[in-house]
Amino acid sequence: MSEEELLFNLKKYFGYDSFREGQREIIEAIMDGRDALGVLPTGGGKSICYWLPAILKDGVTLVISPLISLMKDQVDALREAGISASLINSSLSSEDYRQTLSDLRQDLIKILYISPERLENEFFRDFLSDLNVAFVAVDEAHCISQWGHDFRPSYKLIPELYDILGDDLQMTAFTATATEEVRADIINNLELKDPLVKITGFDRKNLYFGVKKPAKKLDFLIDYLTNHREESGIIYVSTRKRVDSIYKNLRTLGFKVARYHAGLSEEVRKKEQEDFIYDKKKIIVATNAFGMGIDKSNVRFVIHYNTPKDMESYYQEAGRAGRDGEDAECILLYSAQDIVINKHLINQSTNYSHKLHELDKLQVIINYANTSRCLRAYILNYFGQATSDTCGNCSNCLSTIERVDVTVDSQKVLSCIYRLEQRYGINTVVETLIGANSKKIRERDLNKLSTYGIMKGKDKAYIKDLIGLLIADGLIKVTSNPYPILKLTEKSKKVLFGEQKVDLAISKDELKHERKASYDESLFSHLKKVRLDLSKQRNVPPFIIFSDKTLKDMAAYKPQNEEEMLMIKGVGERKLIQYGDIFLAEIKEYIHK
Ligand code: ADP
Ligand code: ZN
Repeated sequence: MSEEELLFNLKKYFGYDSFREGQREIIEAIMDGRDALGVLPTGGGKSICYWLPAILKDGVTLVISPLISLMKDQVDALREAGISASLINSSLSSEDYRQTLSDLRQDLIKILYISPERLENEFFRDFLSDLNVAFVAVDEAHCISQWGHDFRPSYKLIPELYDILGDDLQMTAFTATATEEVRADIINNLELKDPLVKITGFDRKNLYFGVKKPAKKLDFLIDYLTNHREESGIIYVSTRKRVDSIYKNLRTLGFKVARYHAGLSEEVRKKEQEDFIYDKKKIIVATNAFGMGIDKSNVRFVIHYNTPKDMESYYQEAGRAGRDGEDAECILLYSAQDIVINKHLINQSTNYSHKLHELDKLQVIINYANTSRCLRAYILNYFGQATSDTCGNCSNCLSTIERVDVTVDSQKVLSCIYRLEQRYGINTVVETLIGANSKKIRERDLNKLSTYGIMKGKDKAYIKDLIGLLIADGLIKVTSNPYPILKLTEKSKKVLFGEQKVDLAISKDELKHERKASYDESLFSHLKKVRLDLSKQRNVPPFIIFSDKTLKDMAAYKPQNEEEMLMIKGVGERKLIQYGDIFLAEIKEYIHK
């Protein structure tokens, strides 16, 4: 099939005018009958890579997917686009199950989602062997690798499909995990034959990356949410307890907020997750238990209230923003306190080599928070990708960074830790330095120390920030017995004796990176309401009807008839038939008013 024909069908079924990076090559290979492995970042557009060939090829395409919730969303999205898709998993009623089998027998289904466990079922295997299968697509293929972060033993069943359907079965696999080990595992375990391996860049250009060090994180958060009321976002928090308290705080202030952590009952979790996905609640406060398999495309921001344990987790969690390709923000709220706690947790491990490994990984994210380089370049370089030095869309590229010599203040901090006999945590160190008159200080006679009050008048947040930098630079270490305690290191002597200087990078007046809206904002918010009503009526998540990007395009170009409507990105033939009239009428009425 020519590129032109592929583009025609891309527009017809999905409403898109061009392929994203990697999509065309993968689709062409699949159309040619070749095995393929696609490694695309989250939001890179993996689904289209197998959906389009599935529609165009003869027979049914089997998609193997690890999560029931994910399958349902995908099938819903396909049906909305007018493609006959179905799923078979344990959540199906026996009636629906029978119906699906009968549809399959009559060749009525183009795309069938199944869980890998289904392949254990003798009856189903028999049934499969009689079907005309076009090819197999393995989603989240890294689950087959022991090295991957979510190994699923049942993925090992997939190669049995060769026994059922023949050795010449065409097999394709997709993942966002890029490491070489995982890639090799996928190719070996799935027995891919001379596959096209397409790895696209990991950059997510529409994501802004920012690091903030607010004195009061909660104030920052409330401020941010107040300025982004219309938008959907995730707030990641380190502990269940803190999820609950931030959740309550926000609710009291009138925010529509959901929460999620492993301490809630399954029922509550499911409800909260759905409220978030269906835009009934714009914000979700969650631990890192939330997110796997969540395919909500219009998440506009991901805020990390606490520093995660490594860069891999950070990029994966932050990457849940902006999957629709629209601008979105990923902000890390960094504090020295987080590092103290993270180190403390790691230090409790009794496995020495494991501990060192974890500390190394933590150091990477500490350095991310303290670097004055381009944040995007820092992340991509860490994942082995070459980049330019600046991106123009991160908090460092957009700020003027000033390097301040803080050697003298650092000496004060270090000598205070020394005078405190290296027996106290960060709060006591700071209180002693500013000369606080607290009970603890008086009871322990800390106000008699020579370092008491030597930083009087300095901002607490500044001192904490400085301590964070000193930890990051290895000038202070954090130990636990059993509370996190600050201690000096070999390196601290150099600073204390004036042999080494310390610089603090302070970012000033970050330019506003938000581009001015190029669309009619009030029409956009009106169309969002229309979409929300439709989503309730049809019981599908709003973004499955149209993405935010599509609605913004409508609000920018204000199409007047079906032809103009078809020019909007994300409006294909089927969507036009289903929703064209409704949205055209709303736009006309809006212009009229
Ligand atoms: P992934 O599975 O790789 O995380 P998806 O397949 O969910 O990503 O795609 C992410 C988003 O990008 C979806 O909203 C999808 O409709 C959209 N998308 C995919 N391909 C294109 C394209 N060629 N043009 C515009 N949008 C696209
Ligand atoms: Zn940058």
